[in-house]
Amino acid sequence: QAKRQGRNTIRFFAPEMHRRAAERRELQGDLRKALEAGQLSLHFQPQVALDSGNVVGVEVLLRWHHPQLGAVPPNRFIPLAEDNRNVMIALGRWVLEQASRQARSWLDAGYPALRISVNVSIVQLRDEHFTDHVRATLEHFRLPPDQLQLELTESLLMTEFKGAADRVRAIERLGVRIAVDDFGTGYSSLSYLKNLPVDELKIDQSFVHNIAAGGNAAPIVEAIIRMGQSLRLRVVAEGVEDYDTARYLTAHNCDCAQGFYYSKPLPATDFEREFLRPLGG
Ligand code: C2E
Ligand code: MG
Ligand code: MG
Ligand code: MG
Repeated sequence: QAKRQGRNTIRFFAPEMHRRAAERRELQGDLRKALEAGQLSLHFQPQVALDSGNVVGVEVLLRWHHPQLGAVPPNRFIPLAEDNRNVMIALGRWVLEQASRQARSWLDAGYPALRISVNVSIVQLRDEHFTDHVRATLEHFRLPPDQLQLELTESLLMTEFKGAADRVRAIERLGVRIAVDDFGTGYSSLSYLKNLPVDELKIDQSFVHNIAAGGNAAPIVEAIIRMGQSLRLRVVAEGVEDYDTARYLTAHNCDCAQGFYYSKPLPATDFEREFLRPLGG
C-alpha cells in the first residue's frame, strides 16, 4: 500500500517538477531577450519627508512586460536573472543608466534635484567592474554623485564575500550614498553598521504594515528610528499604506516614508506630472 502510494506520488510530482523547471528555463530565455526587445521599463515611487511633506527622493523599480504573460513581478524575475551572472549584470547596468538618464533629463527640465535610489543585486556588487561602471555612468550623465543612492539589502551586506566591504567603501568614496534595504529582516547582527559607510536605513514593510496591530512591530519600528538617529542615518519607512501609519511615523520622528498611501510606483511621465514642479515655478 505505502509502496504504491509512494510510486503514485512520484508519478504525480515528477512531471510537475519537470514542468516547473522547463517553465523557469523558458522564462530565463525570454528574460535574456527582454532587454533588446524593449520589454523592460522603470517605474518611480516618491519618498516623502515626513516633517515637510515634500518629495525628497525617488526609488527606481524595474518592470518587465512579457509579450504573452503580461507584467512579471521583479520578485519573480530578478532571482531568475541572478542565476546567470551576465544577465543580471546587463540588467543592472541598464537600470542604472536609464535611471541616470532620467535624472539628467529632469535636471535639464529645471526640476529640483531628487535623490535617485537604485536597487543593486549581490551579483552586481560581486562584479569587479561595478564601481567603474557607476563612476562612468555618473560622469556620462553629469550627475552629482550624492544625488545617487544604491540600495543594498541587509542580507546582502551580511554575506561575507571577499571584497564586499571594500566595494561598498569604494562606492562611498565616489560620493554615492548607501541605503540598507529591507532593514530588520537580516540576521539582526548590527556589526556591519559599525564597519560600513551606510547613510540610510529602510525599515522593512513587514514591520510598517503591522504598526497598528498591537504586537512587536511598533516597538521594533521605534527602536530602529532611535538607532538611526543615534547613528545619524536617515530612516525611511517602506510600505506606508494609510494615514494612521504616516501619522504614527511622523509622531515618532521617522525621517521619510514611501508607500501606496503617497503613490504606487509610476512611469516617468506620470511621476513627473504628479510630483515635479520647476524650481521657482
Ligand atoms: P524593494 O526594493 O524593497 O522595493 C519595494 C517594493 O515594495 C516594490 O515592489 C514596491 O512596488 C513595493 N511597495 C511600495 N509601496 C508599497 C506599499 O505601500 N505596500 C506594498 N504592499 N508594497 C509596496 P516591486 O516593485 O514589486 O519590487 C520588489 C523587489 O524587487 C524590490 O523590493 C527589489 O528587491 C527588487 N527589485 C525591483 N527593481 C529592481 C532592480 O532594478 N534591481 C534589483 N536588483 N532588484 C530590483
Ligand atoms: Mg529597494
Ligand atoms: Mg525594501
Ligand atoms: Mg525587498
